[in-house]
Amino acid sequence: MGHAKRNKLVFTVKDRCRVCYTCLRECPVKAIKIINGQAEVISERCIGCGNCVSVCSQKAKVYFDSVERVENMLQSEPEIVACIAPSFPAEFSEIPDHKFLVGMIKKLGFHRVFEVAFGADLVAKEYSKLIESAGEKTYISSDCPAIVFYIEHYYPELIKNLAPIASPMVAICRVIRKKYGENTKVVFIGPCIAKKAESDEIDEALTFIELRTLFERNAITVENADPSEFDSPHPGKGAIFPVSRGLLQSVNIKDDIIKGEILVASGRINFREAIKEFDNKEIEAKHLELLCCDGCIMGPGMSQCGKPYHRRVRISNYVKSRLEVLDNEKWSEEMNEYNDIVLSQTFNPADRRQEKPAYDMVEKILLSMGKNDTKDHLNCGACGYDTCIEHAEAILLGHAENEMCLPFAIEKLHKSVNALNISNENLANAKLALKQSEKLASMGQLSAGIAHELNNPLGVITLYSNILKDEISADSPVQKDLQLIVEQSERCKKIVGGLLNFARKNQVKLVETDFEKFVHHSIESVIIPGNVQVEIKSSLVDKMVMIDTDQMMQVLTNLEKNAVEAMPAGGNLTIEITGDKQSVEIAINDSGTGIPKENMEKLFEPFFTTKEPGKGTGLGLPLVYGIVKMHKGQINVVSNTLPENGPVGTTFKIVLPRYN
Ligand code: ADP
Ligand code: MG
Repeated sequence: MGHAKRNKLVFTVKDRCRVCYTCLRECPVKAIKIINGQAEVISERCIGCGNCVSVCSQKAKVYFDSVERVENMLQSEPEIVACIAPSFPAEFSEIPDHKFLVGMIKKLGFHRVFEVAFGADLVAKEYSKLIESAGEKTYISSDCPAIVFYIEHYYPELIKNLAPIASPMVAICRVIRKKYGENTKVVFIGPCIAKKAESDEIDEALTFIELRTLFERNAITVENADPSEFDSPHPGKGAIFPVSRGLLQSVNIKDDIIKGEILVASGRINFREAIKEFDNKEIEAKHLELLCCDGCIMGPGMSQCGKPYHRRVRISNYVKSRLEVLDNEKWSEEMNEYNDIVLSQTFNPADRRQEKPAYDMVEKILLSMGKNDTKDHLNCGACGYDTCIEHAEAILLGHAENEMCLPFAIEKLHKSVNALNISNENLANAKLALKQSEKLASMGQLSAGIAHELNNPLGVITLYSNILKDEISADSPVQKDLQLIVEQSERCKKIVGGLLNFARKNQVKLVETDFEKFVHHSIESVIIPGNVQVEIKSSLVDKMVMIDTDQMMQVLTNLEKNAVEAMPAGGNLTIEITGDKQSVEIAINDSGTGIPKENMEKLFEPFFTTKEPGKGTGLGLPLVYGIVKMHKGQINVVSNTLPENGPVGTTFKIVLPRYN
């Protein structure tokens, strides 16, 4: 078979391809590779069946365009004829009579128009002889070029079983050349893409779609064409050939089908299965009648899709009407006239099978797609391959990509969505924390200024009030007043000290400390009412951490006091210590009242308190915050006040780096 046009038979228009893998799924030989998310036809693997062209909703798969070549031939060739495939009644259902179609083709410039069906008559006779004389040998019909390509490429050892008979197209071509001379240019018109590369004996092959393009370009319609009859020789029953079993129907070997000696398989799944089973010696048949499409009426060169039964009816009606007016005597005469035409055909192996990659390599690829086990082999077919293993093999051959696996891609997408959610959350938290720390920083500056200015006069007040107190006799009436001044100025000093701590003006003196012991120690210096249960849990392995013990003690006692104060009716104070190599974390949880949402933002502001005057200063948490920051640590609060949202209470969590 001539393969001159094979490497440009079917190809992808990259801009149109939306990578849905439908073409790959429908390709019976997996002649499509997906690289960088683009589908590309592997010409040497392609059998030209045109399934991919038919199924691509984006029209991204196109085939070798013969329109211009034929136009040029029509202008330059002195003797150019057309032969039209017998499936034409299924295509041109809008044309009321075949004579109009013939007239339209002639108007294009073709000198004569023949029916390939007469070639089918000759070929059918040949098949009948072959099957009768085959003996034990099983033949596979060779009239479908895609089937022939398939066997040449993927079952070269079955070439001996291909019926060594020319196709009806080649047969009619030989008839035409005998009748009208060797130099006659012959253009085949039919539903098939593979025909374009079937044989060098044909000069060009148009699909019906391309014929319609020619009609359109030349403004040829039923109305402006002169009706004309097909040129002779006219066919007999060969015209039924485009429907599956057609060829056999035309040689009257129906009985063999009933006996099971003739096996008919059509369509991209069935023909492969039939060949595979035949190759495995699982079927015994006298003859395999195989068609790549569901009969030629479903060929990819037809312009409308669907309606296979309507198309069959159109063919049978046409054949019936033609047989009614057939001059049987003339037909027999012509069959005899071309009896001497050699209808033999040879086929050449062109092995395109690829060695299967070693299974350990395949397994590695499967693992990389998260398929750790056979139960992970969903074999869903979304990637275009029937099984996960076939997909993995194709990846190894450089024909496919991991991302084609839908479950893998979905999983990957889920992971990135989750990661995105987490980083979004982190970002929002960071933004909030930044806002908070900016606010606290400016408050810190202000309070540091105030504290600094107050410190000196306060020192003077304390000093002089103490001197006065010492100088005055113990029973003096002002002694009590002076005592009050001393006490209150001491209190003021404490507040100012607290402000300075918050403003981070102090230094930290880090000492390596057993954190677990330290926490236990902290709880001892807090007065715990009888109705509060304390529990300290620790999972620390390395207990040592660098902290300023005096300051950190203030942090813990402040938080513990707050927790106790939040549980006036009693409850649980739970302290949990965890850690890793870099840091330790302490969570102080209480089952107290919780903190209302509106207070959350104000917690660390100096003087924010909800406690009654004299009880709270609102300086505890600002102090805690300042000290934690001085330790380069982090502090956050989670709190719940509504029982319907879970347990009510508050958790303060502090993360401290082990070493600063
Ligand atoms: P003070 O204890 O003097 O009020 P803090 O700065 O220690 O000042 O606390 C500020 C406010 O934060 C408290 O008045 C209280 O409203 C709230 N608060 C702190 N810790 C808790 C807690 N564990 N449970 C409920 N509210 C708390
Ligand atoms: Mg407090």
